Amino acid sequence: MSQTNTPQRRPTLPVTVGHLTIGGGAPIVVQSMTNTDTADIESTVRQVIELARAGSELVRLTVNHESAAKAVPAIRAALDAQDCSVPLVGDFHFNGHRLLTDYPECAQALAKYRINPGNVGTGEKRDSQFATLIELACRYDRPVRIGVNWGSLDQELVARMMDDNARAPQPKDSDQIMYEAMVESAISSAERAVQLGLPRDHIVLSCKMSGVQDLIRVYRMLAARTDHALHLGLTEAGMGTKGIVASTAALAVLLQEGIGDTIRVSLTPEPGESRTREVVVAQEILQSMGLRAFAPMVTACPGCGRTTSDTFQHLAKDIQGYLRARMPEWCTRYPGIETLKVAVMGCVVNGPGESRHANIGISLPGSGERPAAPVYVDGEKVATLKGEGITEQFKRLVDAYIESHYGRGRGA
Ligand code: SF4
Repeated sequence: MSQTNTPQRRPTLPVTVGHLTIGGGAPIVVQSMTNTDTADIESTVRQVIELARAGSELVRLTVNHESAAKAVPAIRAALDAQDCSVPLVGDFHFNGHRLLTDYPECAQALAKYRINPGNVGTGEKRDSQFATLIELACRYDRPVRIGVNWGSLDQELVARMMDDNARAPQPKDSDQIMYEAMVESAISSAERAVQLGLPRDHIVLSCKMSGVQDLIRVYRMLAARTDHALHLGLTEAGMGTKGIVASTAALAVLLQEGIGDTIRVSLTPEPGESRTREVVVAQEILQSMGLRAFAPMVTACPGCGRTTSDTFQHLAKDIQGYLRARMPEWCTRYPGIETLKVAVMGCVVNGPGESRHANIGISLPGSGERPAAPVYVDGEKVATLKGEGITEQFKRLVDAYIESHYGRGRGA
């Protein structure tokens, strides 16, 4: 119901990145970044495929030295050979001008270049190295993300703005100058890129910060000053619950204001944890806000004293995992399946009601209730599951629903 009240997107220039569009009203793009050594072609290809299969629509790689630049064309070729067409973004700091000049096949294999105006160089070198990067983007007709990060903000710009502020009749506080410096760095770099010949619709901007309130303030300022497409993300969000909550809090506020054309959730993986979690979190943010749909939504109650066995938790987890795991196959076989709503509820208090609002829902028996689990399809009770194997029985009913409502023979 609430999904119809989706926020109005702020108008931005559309930017073409490979087969994708960022901005200009296109669906908000989910992206991620590898944490393998880019020079390790096998590991990087494996992780890019894993991220793409999880739903990352763009994948960024660090291109930090010659062996990484040499590896990029081979990574692209290996991905293509495995039918993985996800566009690759090269992340450049300090030596991007040289790597892109010396390795033209790398420049061609990448669909977009990310440059950080704070890490392009200093003094006169900064201007000439920035110009080289932009000239290369023009030569290869590639869009550029001008990505300002407050951990590497152009210190000459900050010092100049702080000095100007100190001389002002009513100086602003230093945080405000920092925000203004972030925005100024992005906007002035974009203007310089346009002067150097980069089309305006080849520019995406970002101003990443690690504090939630800082990020919200700086993006509001940035959005008020530009119509360039914006990449949104809380940098260094952290690990686990903290990283997820902080990213969600920051991104949700801005997305609700129509700000943001592509997002990344910068989670630090737990040791041994898959990198794909950041992709799932980004998708869940967009889907729970009604901005996009990626996978069937499972509504589950939190459980309470009426669910003393863990059957209900296992069923909710199994069904959620099952639906997500099948999505790479289902999304091509069953168009529209991402809008499916499934309910898994713990007892009769809210179970039948919530199940009726879903496309297909199950209400498990709470403590002391009859050991039977009614299943509802499009609001009607169609079956009552009993005994062992309720999970498998319910999965079969979900499969049958999907085939009849999203399969080729639907409506027959
Ligand atoms: S639906 Fe039942 S089990 Fe779930 S939280 Fe509500 S009362 Fe508790």
